[in-house]
Amino acid sequence: MTASQFARQPYEGILTFGGQPHTRDLNGVDVAILGIPYDGATSNRTGTRFGPRAIREQSSLLWGYNNALQVAPFEQLRVVDYGDAEVVPVDILATQRTIERDSRMIVEHGSRLVSLGGDHSVTLPLLRSHARRYGPLGVVHFDAHPDTWDAEFGDCKYSHGTTFRRALEEGLVDRAAYLQIGIRGPTAGPQDYADALGLGARMITLDEAIVRGVADVCFEARERIGSRPCYISLDIDAVDPAFAPGTGTPEVGGFTSHQMLQLVRGLAGLNVVGADLVEMSPPWDPSQITAVLAANLVFEMLSLMAMSTG
Ligand code: MN
Ligand code: MN
Repeated sequence: MTASQFARQPYEGILTFGGQPHTRDLNGVDVAILGIPYDGATSNRTGTRFGPRAIREQSSLLWGYNNALQVAPFEQLRVVDYGDAEVVPVDILATQRTIERDSRMIVEHGSRLVSLGGDHSVTLPLLRSHARRYGPLGVVHFDAHPDTWDAEFGDCKYSHGTTFRRALEEGLVDRAAYLQIGIRGPTAGPQDYADALGLGARMITLDEAIVRGVADVCFEARERIGSRPCYISLDIDAVDPAFAPGTGTPEVGGFTSHQMLQLVRGLAGLNVVGADLVEMSPPWDPSQITAVLAANLVFEMLSLMAMSTG
């Protein structure tokens, strides 16, 4: 028996997501994974620029078969690790342009895209690329925060707290099919939530989700989105910081890891054309547990894509 007859061990080899090949050749590619190591738009502690590497590292433990959904995404889809978008740490507009360029390349080629953040500002250029191909999107936005502020820093229009207001203003999101799930925590006043509702969001607070249960929440999401092209944006701070401490703006009292996994699985059947996992910040994640969860949530997203492409 030679060494090549043994399965690759999780700690061997060059790091890519799930051990998938690193290439920018999109021919025949069903899903491209794109890292976006940018944290210049955060309002509190930084560190999400290290997120893509940490998630890739912990993804080496994904053995491949999803027992909950009975799907093997790496077998049923041709998944590649596209590498990282170029970022300009001191210039959010330049960074948005490079994210838009890379994501548009992938999306317009017909491949599906899963992005690893980065802070939540990276979602705006990603939504632009998807809406350009698919039209206004159904969006499931998991987060502790609505991210619908008009401005966080003076009159600056772009930060990780303004993403979804800008996306709604730009017509990237179908207001009838936009859900925020997991919203909680103190705000400066009642206006923050009122603003989100006024923009058309269906806000399912953490409290509502716990009272109703995960299955009922997912049922509503599937009903509202229907057959529309669907984008999932998952801010890891939707999860309780006891389970996911590695994030920049933690809010206590969130979902457990298991609830978060079940919430993503419960979207099975939707036509998931794109997804991102953002706000995972390794410097605040001493045991790597947040990165482990993030890698597994990305695996669930890939599983949904395997199921929605038949
Ligand atoms: Mn958040
Ligand atoms: Mn967010």
